[in-house]
Amino acid sequence: MLSKLRTLCLKGIDGREVSAEVYIASGLPAYSVVGLPDAAVKEAKDRVVAAVRNSGFDFPSKRITVNLAPAEIKKAGTHFDLPIALGVIAAAGGLGKKPPARLGETFFIGELALDGGLRPVAGVLPMLQAIKGQGRRAIVPGGNAAEAAVSGVDCLTASNLKEVASWLAGKADLGPCAAGARPAAAAQAPDLSEVKGQAFAKRALEIAAAGFHNIILVGPPGSGKSMLARRFGALLPPMSFDEALETTKLYSVSGLCAAGRLVNERPFREPHHTISDAALIGGGSNPRPGEVSLAHNGVLFLDEFPEFSRPAIEALREPLEAWKVTVSRVKESVAYPARFLLVAAMNPCPCGYLGHPVRECSCTPVQVHKYRAKVSGPILDRIDLQVQLSAVKYADWEALPRGESSAAVAERVLRAKELQRRRFGGPKANAFMAGAELRRHCALPAGASAILETAMNRLGFSARSLDKILKISRTIADLEGVQDIRKEHLVEAMQYRMLDKAAVPAA
Ligand SMILES: [Zn+2]
Repeated sequence: MLSKLRTLCLKGIDGREVSAEVYIASGLPAYSVVGLPDAAVKEAKDRVVAAVRNSGFDFPSKRITVNLAPAEIKKAGTHFDLPIALGVIAAAGGLGKKPPARLGETFFIGELALDGGLRPVAGVLPMLQAIKGQGRRAIVPGGNAAEAAVSGVDCLTASNLKEVASWLAGKADLGPCAAGARPAAAAQAPDLSEVKGQAFAKRALEIAAAGFHNIILVGPPGSGKSMLARRFGALLPPMSFDEALETTKLYSVSGLCAAGRLVNERPFREPHHTISDAALIGGGSNPRPGEVSLAHNGVLFLDEFPEFSRPAIEALREPLEAWKVTVSRVKESVAYPARFLLVAAMNPCPCGYLGHPVRECSCTPVQVHKYRAKVSGPILDRIDLQVQLSAVKYADWEALPRGESSAAVAERVLRAKELQRRRFGGPKANAFMAGAELRRHCALPAGASAILETAMNRLGFSARSLDKILKISRTIADLEGVQDIRKEHLVEAMQYRMLDKAAVPAA
């Protein structure tokens, strides 16, 4: 007998429809899956046999062939357990002589436990998005109910195989998927006003948030680099629904969507510098999004930036240029979005105290040069703002007033974003201007060429850094709400290019 069912699979973060056919023929007992299954799908057999038998059905000792189509898409994951088990039960006549109509009309997703229980799986939201708005219905494990409720697809939920079989036979009802409870009010997010001093770095972070400029903070240990970085997310505007949906898909595919809610706060990812390039960027034989994709629409904070492995730093090039990561494998390649704002932090030198007012630096100029060279040119080229933080003396620190709150800064950022939205007719930011756009939107004020000439000749700025200075000036003018870039904007922008200047700053 032959049975046909519907299910779904993932290609990157997009769902695809899959048809599952189960054919039982007489002959020596055998079980095979065709249609580009991965190891987990092939291993489904043991779970399926136990689950079918423990649910009170017969698992025939015959020749069983499972075909997952279309064959050109790789089938990965354990969520094929449920459709395969139902297909076997139906083909063996366990659901009656003629398979119930519901069997062919419904999409089935779920991993089976040996006792027939249904276990939640990764990627439910993006899979269901593939059949959104088509009036179709799906059945998902209870553990994925909240996530499925976000999808907008008519979904039912079950806790085991037997319940699904009874529903198919019209003997029982299944519950709808309810949205997840709102999380209890999150603990008060850290606020920018808690960081005393460092007005210069705070201003740079405001500019970074307003124009989506990547930023690197250079300063001695204890100067507050991490404190500032962790408060940066609160300066960014709230996520739009589409951004939240896209980010949630990446978390779902990674199996990090357990609570099943939409990820509607901008992510902040802070991987340690010992991370492998694969974990940072994504990939592997069974591809998963990396940290850069989990930071999509949010912030990627890389502390101790030069300590990251060379391959990891180099691998950042693709996402910083294309805002996505492409993972190529033998049969197919998948792409994960990765549009994040990079906040990097580093010490000024290996010992950390170069330029420190009290402690002495023990590094030689060669060591300092080598340390800085680890952050390669192409990556540095993607970082618009380079900011030096100074050490704060305790006596000074005591006397410093608390600064502005995150909310006050975020309001200015939002207004600057609105100007950019009107300028570019979309969500584009100043950081992404290139060529003609740069010339069109960053007209120089009178007398500016003299300033730029001095910058190039005396401070050693390259033509490339001049482009950055123009972009930053544009964002500074936007924060002020003015149309034309002024000289003072240019002068301020030049201060945020400290690594371009002499390699070793004056003490
Ligand atoms: Zn040093």
